[in-house]
Amino acid sequence: MAADIETVLTEIAAEMAARPDRGDVATYIPQLAKVDVGRFGIAVALNDGRLIARGDAEIPFSIQSVSKVFTLTLALGKVGDTLWRRVGREPSGNPFNSIIQLEHERGIPRNPFINAGAIVVTDVLLSGHQPREAIGEILRFIQFLADDDTVYIDHQVAASEQATGFRNVALANYMRSFGNITHAPEMALGVYYHHCAIAMSCRQLALAGRFLAHDGRHAETGHSVVSSERARRISALMLTCGHYDGSGDFAFRVGVPGKSGVGGGILCVVPGVASIAVWSPGLNENGNSKLGSIALEKLAKAMNWSIFAPK
Ligand code: GLU
Repeated sequence: MAADIETVLTEIAAEMAARPDRGDVATYIPQLAKVDVGRFGIAVALNDGRLIARGDAEIPFSIQSVSKVFTLTLALGKVGDTLWRRVGREPSGNPFNSIIQLEHERGIPRNPFINAGAIVVTDVLLSGHQPREAIGEILRFIQFLADDDTVYIDHQVAASEQATGFRNVALANYMRSFGNITHAPEMALGVYYHHCAIAMSCRQLALAGRFLAHDGRHAETGHSVVSSERARRISALMLTCGHYDGSGDFAFRVGVPGKSGVGGGILCVVPGVASIAVWSPGLNENGNSKLGSIALEKLAKAMNWSIFAPK
């Protein structure tokens, strides 16, 4: 018989709060270096409508690369499968901000979740818009999915990244040289930094991820956000590419699709069962939340939530 989710989450949160080995906060974005490494929060939005949260689940944090799940969803809605002419669908096996594969692959990034791929996706969202409109469209989409208008952009984080994002400037300009960035690189990067700087709590993020756990439908209204095929494909990319060069290990340990960000957040989807958000700002060697990954491993094991487990 499956374990009781309330008890499991209480035990995991207590264990995580007490752990001394919490990893290190990201320092390359100065504003993120100020976050308290002692935080831990988790929220689970079950498909039966229950929302169960523990720890610091109400504190907004910088979702960073988790935003790339939502920008990918929007870009597919805008240009459909033609997106795949400009971005690949293979794990990179390289760090999130790596430039080396771009030369061999003529400016086509390996997948939409590494920085280069996400900047191309952002360039797609910019088409026909001013940067401000594109940022507003992304924010409103996330607010809609979370059923919460209080989700906001932390402009200090965006400015902090804008001031120090030299690697991203290099990626955008390099891809521009191949014609795979179609706007001025600084415009695409401005929108990119702002969607990475969206701040959400675990509760809000778990709610925003529900459409993937619901096979593409909005959890409250049942209306289609994306087709079920697209929801499955986005989840497949989360499983294979959602944790940079730690994606294989995350699939091995946790066994569910997930997308991490350097702010220490991870969004996970258990198809047909739940959307999960966890946050702990200390990162492991691959730049993924250290305690977040451990907590998800324990949760998936206790609940038998691996997608590879017989149903
Ligand atoms: N905004 C961050 C960057 O471009 C996102 C990285 C991440 O969360 O992995 O470096």
